[in-house]
Amino acid sequence: MRDPEWFRRDEKGWKCLLCPRGCTFEPDSTALGHCRVRGLKDGKPYLPGYGECVSLAVDPIEKKPLYHFLPGTSILSTGPAGCNLTCDFCQNWSISQNSSVPTRYVSPADLAEISMEGESRGIAYTYTEPTIWFEYIADSAPLVRAGGGAVVMVSNGEINPDPLLQLTEITDAWNVDLKSWSDDFYKRHCGGSRETVLQTIRTLARSACHLEITFLIIPEENDDPVEWMEMAQWICDECGEDTVLHISRYFPRYKLRQQTTLIETLLKAKEIFSRKLNHVYIGNVSLERSDTFCPSCGALCIGRSGWLVSTEGMINGKCASCGHALNIVHEIG
Ligand code: SF4
Repeated sequence: MRDPEWFRRDEKGWKCLLCPRGCTFEPDSTALGHCRVRGLKDGKPYLPGYGECVSLAVDPIEKKPLYHFLPGTSILSTGPAGCNLTCDFCQNWSISQNSSVPTRYVSPADLAEISMEGESRGIAYTYTEPTIWFEYIADSAPLVRAGGGAVVMVSNGEINPDPLLQLTEITDAWNVDLKSWSDDFYKRHCGGSRETVLQTIRTLARSACHLEITFLIIPEENDDPVEWMEMAQWICDECGEDTVLHISRYFPRYKLRQQTTLIETLLKAKEIFSRKLNHVYIGNVSLERSDTFCPSCGALCIGRSGWLVSTEGMINGKCASCGHALNIVHEIG
């Protein structure tokens, strides 16, 4: 097992500086951190979750969701058994908030090898919160890239700036949740901070990584159109009007029991966000098409129906009709 990073020793014991939780551990503690994949053993930092995968599956990359990164391809997906947030509406709570979920150890070298087998074009660290797996990603992502694969992160964005910067150097694309425009929402429902997530999104927008954002709309909790307008303006100002936004439908899961988001609400949100952003999609809705149209000439560039993807209207990431650049990564390397 490699040495853990981001732990600092002080007079009281150890502190983890990977994420804003800043878990502290007394020297003789055997407790795990809030995320349950990092902790202390025999008085030293310890990574019990290193390489312990909750799932290994090859998924369409659109399922991450990433619509403008290698569209129409598939990617090996995995994640750790834990999370640094405690969202009471978590759609994956059985693996993120469950301390007895079974896992399987996969070494970094094995992960890199599997990630390029069959249809897979690389690795997506996803399902729960991958940034808490910092050391495993630092060991496996470069191997995936060395083999010609892509590295994708699907994250809640709750990570401190220094480790985030290091991850931007070894990853290719991110989807980050922006769960609400309200910091109070983050505190009440997630145990996190909106400012941290905004800073993460800002950093990624200025990095070489491709960035998409997901916003899960929960009735009565984050469905204020005034907040949507402010969020749209912020994304446009900080990340650009071509930033991809996925508006996702909420279903009652875990502790929160609000009703399922109405389709009308999602359509209204799409209309409002589209006033500022060129690529707004609705997700988690089976009947909705999620095509990409050229913001310049209006031509259909990518057609999506379920996980079926047609890229005939796009050439080298540009509109086939007028040549407009679409903020689409069509190849890596
Ligand atoms: S990464 Fe885990 S152990 Fe470290 S501060 Fe965050 S929740 Fe705590």
